[in-house]
Amino acid sequence: MALTGVEIFKLLPKTNCKKCGQPTCLAFAMKLAQRQASIDQCPDVSEEAKQKLGEASAPPIRPITLGTGARAVKIGEETVLFRHEKKFVNPCAISVKISDNLSQADAGKVIAGIMESEIDRVGQKLRVDAAFLSNDSGDASKLAALASLVASKAPELPVIISTTSPDAAEAALKPFAGKNAVLYGANKDNLEAMAQKAKDAKAALAIAASSLDEAAELTEKAKAIVPDLIMDSGARKAGEMLRDNTYVRRAAIKKGFKPLGYPVINFVGRGDSMLETVVAVLSVTKYASIIVLDHLEKWQSLALFSLRQNIYTDPQVPMQVQQNIYKVGDPGPKAPFLITTNFSLTYFIVSGEVENSKVPCRLAVLDSEGLSVLTAWAAGKFTASKIAQFIKESGIEAEIENKELIIPGYVAILSGAIEDKLEGWKITVGPREANGLPAFLKSRA
Ligand code: SF4
Repeated sequence: MALTGVEIFKLLPKTNCKKCGQPTCLAFAMKLAQRQASIDQCPDVSEEAKQKLGEASAPPIRPITLGTGARAVKIGEETVLFRHEKKFVNPCAISVKISDNLSQADAGKVIAGIMESEIDRVGQKLRVDAAFLSNDSGDASKLAALASLVASKAPELPVIISTTSPDAAEAALKPFAGKNAVLYGANKDNLEAMAQKAKDAKAALAIAASSLDEAAELTEKAKAIVPDLIMDSGARKAGEMLRDNTYVRRAAIKKGFKPLGYPVINFVGRGDSMLETVVAVLSVTKYASIIVLDHLEKWQSLALFSLRQNIYTDPQVPMQVQQNIYKVGDPGPKAPFLITTNFSLTYFIVSGEVENSKVPCRLAVLDSEGLSVLTAWAAGKFTASKIAQFIKESGIEAEIENKELIIPGYVAILSGAIEDKLEGWKITVGPREANGLPAFLKSRA
């Protein structure tokens, strides 16, 4: 169980030396209790205290990294049951199954689909995170051939190798040694051998249990060999997965029950891709750390990417872009000059519509603390004074010939006040909705 600030304080040197960056040991203890500091920041803490605090301050769900390099993804490390308490930490990894029964050509198409799945949404790159290589054939050489194919075509793609055969696991893991792969398929009959294979390849081990009780029993046995564990409770029906995922999250976070303090993998594959997506939505929403899909359809991944992104943003911090003047296309000195707020969604919708117009523009984005246009105006964060000050300080006047600023139609009321504060400028009221921008800009071109 997590220690309280006072319990942590009792283990610290109590010299108030400030080397940790905090004014007192008590302040540092409080930071540790809130998981906002690391024990390593105190250079004088004893080894005994370090061990006790290390265990107590470890997140209730173990963090695990899949893959290495630019495509590496972290899972686990969650600390809350509900997103409104504090943000969810590491987004559920989306993986797609590749069967070793597929021909090399067909497997190659799935690999290419995974690698081409990336989209850009409100400034974040979203994509399918991993390939799940399934030993459906039962033939170790086919699994090894599939692993080699993935390693050659997508060397940075995180992989989950699925087999119950330790020998097949060893061969398939070879191309991914040291690359944070996952070995799925450890059960009560092969646990020790599979754990050893995972350890040898520096991979995580995923337990394929038949119940939560069994999962807890197997993690306790396996952790002595390989500490990075992932659990499958064996649930396959949507309702059972929801039940088990919730039980795991509650047991780990509320009760500090270490045997279930690991990320969970869910198999959401269904014959019908619509049904599969519905089940995947349930898993992404309720506590899966990895989902395995059978299909890889564009509409499906777009739906899951958006859902996942929305769940894993911090509800207390609006998504923002930096205050700046952005160029859309290659605007000359007479190009239209627009302004909006820095709420990410507002910025990306407005810049997207400007792009659609094919009219090169400059887009001023004012820091409104992440609020949209009307909300920012109502909150006094998108006012004539702030707009005028931003424009004056931006230095834009030296770059342009037309001193004309296009403001969003929703704040037409500001036009006169801005004109008063920005001497020599003409203020034009643009459309109320961003989707009116292409026609508006084209009509002026
Ligand atoms: S560095 Fe350690 S001893 Fe010094 S104030 Fe911080 S917690 Fe206390």
